[in-house]
Order: sequence, then structure tokens, then C-alpha cells
Amino acid sequence: MTPPLDLVVRSRRTVTPEGERPAAVAVRGERIEALHPYDAPLAAAEDVDLRDLALLPGLVDTHVHVNEPGRTHWEGFASATRAAAAGGVTTIVDMPLNSLPPTTDVAALEAKLAAARGQCHVDVGFWGGAVPGNVKELGPLHERGVLGFKCFMSPSGVAEFPPLAGGDLRRALEEVAGFGGLMVVHAEDPALLAEPDGPTYPEFLASRPEAAERGAVRRLVELARETGARVHVLHVSSAACLDVLAAARADGLPVTAETCPHYLTLEAERVPEGATAFKCCPPIRSAANRDLLWEGLAEGTLSCVVSDHSPSTADLKVPDFAAAWGGIASLQLGLSAVWTEAARRGHRLADVARWMAAAPAALAGIPGKGAIAPGNDADLVAFDPAADHAVDAARLHHKNPVTPYHGQVLKGAVLTTWLRGRPVDGEPHGKFLLRESTG
Ligand SMILES: [Zn+2]
Repeated sequence: MTPPLDLVVRSRRTVTPEGERPAAVAVRGERIEALHPYDAPLAAAEDVDLRDLALLPGLVDTHVHVNEPGRTHWEGFASATRAAAAGGVTTIVDMPLNSLPPTTDVAALEAKLAAARGQCHVDVGFWGGAVPGNVKELGPLHERGVLGFKCFMSPSGVAEFPPLAGGDLRRALEEVAGFGGLMVVHAEDPALLAEPDGPTYPEFLASRPEAAERGAVRRLVELARETGARVHVLHVSSAACLDVLAAARADGLPVTAETCPHYLTLEAERVPEGATAFKCCPPIRSAANRDLLWEGLAEGTLSCVVSDHSPSTADLKVPDFAAAWGGIASLQLGLSAVWTEAARRGHRLADVARWMAAAPAALAGIPGKGAIAPGNDADLVAFDPAADHAVDAARLHHKNPVTPYHGQVLKGAVLTTWLRGRPVDGEPHGKFLLRESTG
């Protein structure tokens, strides 16, 4: 006789890769064993019935700047992963910069693993960094288990993580292509960027034109064609990139792209004066541009929506758009921000799950994540899609209470998050997700 299941979660709105349907999700140990009819009689240690509330797969956020070690006062593994779980995110992938040291060699990765150990409330993977002079470190980082590499085509905002200029980018792409790796790229052409003429948002926006993004994406697509490297364009903010990306896709090139909740939900016309919580690079653009990004998402030209959670302390967010730190904190809010706007535009929860869970898991090559399906990890989120809540930055788990969503009313509330079959509670039981073959 089969022993009872560890957990059953029932919902009339279970979001599976095939769409939303009534189901009972049977969990044994850390994994989903099977999906049964909603009212199937099942023997389980715990049986949770969400009725008409939704059951989503745990989200996978492949763009998070945790900043620990080194800038732990900006954010750290404990606070970031607590915020993630509260926002329905069960997997994050940490960016290699803003921590000190940046993750540009194996010793730095070991320092990061040591800093993170025992603190993570969700599962955590890592990107390595590609910077001038470290091309020989990329293979060893790949072997140690990073999920891919990040590089910049323009200055990153921190001196210790310089961009790859000229032939260095090609050289790094050739190296990564050599072992079948992935390069994720901040694509803005530094030749088309300028210092802002003054402290206001319009002056900041004008200093980072759409042509800088489009030009960099074009160059990157050509380099992907020439080197055979798999590349992913981070945080697309300009709809002017979409035709370049769609053409690359039509040509069968291994080029994918993401956008972020703030580009999909906020607009340049409504950035309040001096409100540098809204500053990020590339910048939030016009409402008309935002509508086109939604079209790119609906068509699949943009496949992932991830946070680019890049917090800092409040003192760096001076009310001057030229001088303030560029980065938006939103890890805990991404799901409700995107759902608020997605629902208004007629999209479904299954679309949101595809953009924010399945596609990022596929991008980073993380098996067993991103979908409610037999054999996958039991990463589950009970979600009330109709609940409204006003964002209070001080009540978020982010270490610093700075976010452009403060005061906004968002739709959708995360009620419970299960990580590999266990509710996320006070005890950190997240694990590291190092690339499979490393054992
Ligand atoms: Zn970023």
C-alpha cells in the first residue's frame, strides 16, 4: 500500500502549462507526484483547499541584485529571499555585480556561497560576471556551477565591474560559445549615452535614448550570429528593440530577451518630480512605448518578465536624477504589479506564469522549476487574484524601504508560498542551484 502523500493543494484555478483548471496537486517529499481532479479523494498528511483562489507555480526571478557580501546594507540573502517568498518567488538568480567582490572568478563565487549559506528562504542560483581581463575565469566558473554570465556594453554604475568594449565582448562570447554557455547582456551603446543636462526626469531620459538600446541590441545580434553564442538581452525598456529581436528570432538565432515590471507598469509622463525611486538604466519610457512592450510580450518577442531588483540605501536616492543611484527595488512586488496591468489588458494568470516562471527557468536552464507539472519541485503559490492592497514600502521585506510602487494600489495577494513542498516560514531552507553537471 502506498503511504499517504505529504501534501495536497486543491484549487479550482490551478495554473498549469496547459492553462488554468481545477486540480488537486499531490506532493510527495519535495516534488509534485501528480495532478488529480479537484475533488479526488487522496490520503495526505495535509490537505489544503484553496477553492476559488489561484494556485501558481513558484516564480523564477533570474534578475536579482542581492549585493551580499560587500554591500549587504543595500540588500542581503536573508532579506532578499524573504521578500522573494512573500512575493511568490521561489527561485532567484543573483547578479554578479554590486556585491564585493563581484562574481568574476571562482574565489569570488566561493565567497558569495559562504555568505549566502544558511540564510536563503528560497532557492538561489548565480550568474557569473564577464569583465575585461577575466575571459580565462569563465570556464572554471561554468564548471563550478554558475548558470551563465552577465556583461555590460556600457558602464555598469560600479567601478569594479567594467563593460566589455571593442573586441573583448566578441572574445568573451567566443569563450562562452566554446562550452555551450549563456551570456546575458546589459545592452546600451555607450557612444549614444550622455551625462544628463540637469536633475529632472526628462533630462535623465534624454540622456539614455532608445537609439542607444536599439544600436547595442543590433550589434549583439550580429555577434551572436558570428560567434554562435547564446545571448539574452536583459531589461529591454525600448520598444525600438523589438523588430531587431523579432528578426533575430525569425533567423533562428539563439537570442532571447526580457523586460521588467517597471517598464510594463510605470510611465515617464507620470514620474513625480525628484522621485528617484523611479530611476533605473535603461530608463522607464513613455506610456506609448509601454503599450508596445506589452505587444512584444504577447507576441513572444519578449519571453521573460523579471524584476531587476537593484536596491540601495535611501541616502543614495537623492532627489536629483543625474546624481541618484540607478536601480529599482521590486522583488516582493513584481507579481502583483504585473498582474494588475496584465489583467487590465486581458491577459490571464497562465500568461503571467509563463513570463515570470516557465520562461525564466528555461532561460537559466534550471530543471524542475517554473511549472506545476508531475516530477517538478513542489514550488507553489496560493494567490488571491482579486485582492487589492496599497503598497507600504516600510512593510516590505526589502532591506531598504525605497520603491516606486509606494502608495500604489496593486491587485493580487500572495497568501502562502511553498518551497519544495514546505511552506516558507521562519526557517531558511532554500538551497543553491548550481548547474547540474557539476554534481
Ligand atoms: Zn540588473
